[in-house]
Amino acid sequence: MTQKKTFLVNIDRCIGCYACEIACKDENDLTPDIRRVMIRIVEAGNLNRIYVPEFSLESVDISGCTLCPQLQIEGRRPACVNNCLTNALGFGDLDKMRKQSEKIPGFKYEKEQKKGITIYISKKPLDAFLTHA
Ligand code: SF4
Ligand code: SF4
Repeated sequence: MTQKKTFLVNIDRCIGCYACEIACKDENDLTPDIRRVMIRIVEAGNLNRIYVPEFSLESVDISGCTLCPQLQIEGRRPACVNNCLTNALGFGDLDKMRKQSEKIPGFKYEKEQKKGITIYISKKPLDAFLTHA
């Protein structure tokens, strides 16, 4: 059975550099106002910030993430994942991403949407900043 494609997001590695957002716009020729992946900033006290990459996997219009089929068909990873400088993002079938996530210690949260799944991992409890994710 075909598995839903899954993003694996290690929140502790995300530095909020926006390279994923920019790579997505570049690869998919998007106008500046459209963000298929966006970095949500959560103020975590003591001047700490947590960056939460969120994929637009519900929308079916131009603002929705397409999972970059034009790259997958060539055996390449989506542009956002490929351009993440800190290896905070992974991508693949659900089983494979679950297995990868098991190798990373921390709290895990799976968010299922229409077009795919996002697995978030962090050593910090996730509920505080994933409530609205
Ligand atoms: S998978 Fe492709 S369309 Fe979706 S957010 Fe990443 S770069 Fe953009
Ligand atoms: S490219 Fe990677 S480190 Fe930079 S904002 Fe995106 S997920 Fe975070």
